[in-house]
Amino acid sequence: MLPEKDPKRQGEKDPKEDPSVALFREYLRIKTVQPEPDYDTAIKFLERIASELSLQCQKVEVCPGRVITILTWKGTNPQLRSILLNSHTDVVPVFEEYWDHDPFSAFKDAEGNIYARGAQDMKCVSIQYIEAIRRLKAEGRHFPRTIHMSFVPDEEIGGHKGMEMFVKRPEFATLNVGFALDEGLANPTDTFTVFYGEKCPWWIKVKVEGNPGHGSRFIENTAAEKMHRVITSFLEFREREKQRLKSEKHLTLGDVTSLNLTMLNGGISFNVVPSEMSAAFDIRIPPTVDLKAFEEQLTAWCRAAGEGVTYEFHQKYMDQSVTSTEESDPWWKAFSGTCRDMNMKLKCEIFPAATDSRYIRAAGHPAIGFSPMNHTPVLLHDHNEFLNEQVFLRGIDIYAHLIPALASVLPLQAEA
Ligand SMILES: [Zn+2]
Repeated sequence: MLPEKDPKRQGEKDPKEDPSVALFREYLRIKTVQPEPDYDTAIKFLERIASELSLQCQKVEVCPGRVITILTWKGTNPQLRSILLNSHTDVVPVFEEYWDHDPFSAFKDAEGNIYARGAQDMKCVSIQYIEAIRRLKAEGRHFPRTIHMSFVPDEEIGGHKGMEMFVKRPEFATLNVGFALDEGLANPTDTFTVFYGEKCPWWIKVKVEGNPGHGSRFIENTAAEKMHRVITSFLEFREREKQRLKSEKHLTLGDVTSLNLTMLNGGISFNVVPSEMSAAFDIRIPPTVDLKAFEEQLTAWCRAAGEGVTYEFHQKYMDQSVTSTEESDPWWKAFSGTCRDMNMKLKCEIFPAATDSRYIRAAGHPAIGFSPMNHTPVLLHDHNEFLNEQVFLRGIDIYAHLIPALASVLPLQAEA
């Protein structure tokens, strides 16, 4: 890490800086970094916002030390289904030596680029929700539908002690969610990417058994030979999907199945042919793939590799719900219509990895993944993650239009 050259050091306020940007930088300085996030400070920060904005603040501890914070702006017709604005509070770890600035100082350069872990993923969105609501409240606006902002822990490690547990709680049911917004990704062009579904992550470990023996002999049916066949089948499939993505121009990473060999284990000594080996694969499957047929394919590859080849799942996500992007859908109409009115170009995609949206969709609620960051390289989980303050401020404008449109969607048939 280079020595910090920022004249406006942490704690010193620049009187010319937009207060929304100052708040964003303050939030970025809270070290909610995995594997030991400082959630207590983040919750205190959110409680302060709730009292500033006169929002109800509810805290739900889904398991020890894991609290969901919900700030609520009650609608004028609160029996209607609500709008959920979700964001996670944790961020992924950093390799400080690769950063040009302290990743938790929220350094801002002369171009207004703000460098920090979480600048894109996704503390920007949390503050944009908050600042849009601050603006709407200051204008004296009111909307029929209740608006909830949920701030959840542990998304970056799978959401198992966060959103996955929360959607099963009575407190979640009480939110009466109609439509949710959650995180998306940056887009380097002038287009905004919008995610209406996610891939299913499957983590599988293939175990092979074979004849052991001395390393000097030609043992028959070794674990290594079977492992070779397994890996060949899996990686040939990987190559086909990779080529399909390359050659079919309309496809994105969200449309093809990605597969990677991520761990290999086995063996005890140079001169011993081992009786067991294992290989771990991270597979991400788009919602268009028939999961049953896909698993049959995996079984067939393992069977073809020989006797004693088995596999087990370490993660097997099966819900393939996608959110409607049909103009006849009232939520999508409100979302896309607002974007059109603001001259925003949208591109609808399947999210290439997994976010907390999958739990919201699996619980039966439509959810769109959207982080308003165009003209921005995708740097989530990368070194020197940054967001430009102008892009950040535009995002507040965007939410200040989107939130009223969504919170004013007319009663649906089911609500009438
Ligand atoms: Zn994220």
